[in-house]
Amino acid sequence: MDARELLNGYNVPTNCKKCGGIMIFKGVGEYQCEDCGSLDWDDYGKVRNYIEKHRGATAAQIEAEIGVSQRSIRKMLKESRIEIAEGSKSFMHCEVCGKEIRSGRFCHECEMRVHRNMEEQYREALRKDVKGYGTNEGGDTGHRRFMREEM
Ligand SMILES: [Zn+2]
Ligand SMILES: [Zn+2]
Repeated sequence: MDARELLNGYNVPTNCKKCGGIMIFKGVGEYQCEDCGSLDWDDYGKVRNYIEKHRGATAAQIEAEIGVSQRSIRKMLKESRIEIAEGSKSFMHCEVCGKEIRSGRFCHECEMRVHRNMEEQYREALRKDVKGYGTNEGGDTGHRRFMREEM
């Protein structure tokens, strides 16, 4: 299965807004640029952060505050990407290896692997892109072009 396919729909940040570096998955929807260290979050990370600070927020509130669509929020809730309470008897299973998990779609190991895989694909694409133009001159146009194609 393609890593991107597994993670699509959550606006996973692949390149740094500041320097164009590759964003490395840190866990729970958080990413850090391997070059400049700045942080970014995918939709899940943003929603999770917001809910942590604003318990009981409605989907409409969340959408207004952080710009993640209510549709995505409902989808996350349905997929239980939003963590279920400690001590709950209901377990979900990792989509890749079937291990029992408390939240999300993958167990920690598989999630890390999926992200590493995606980072690798992105690196690969960047390399090809740079080669295709013969030079990396002209700033990060290569990165931008790549992002457009991906979206
Ligand atoms: Zn950066
Ligand atoms: Zn797994």
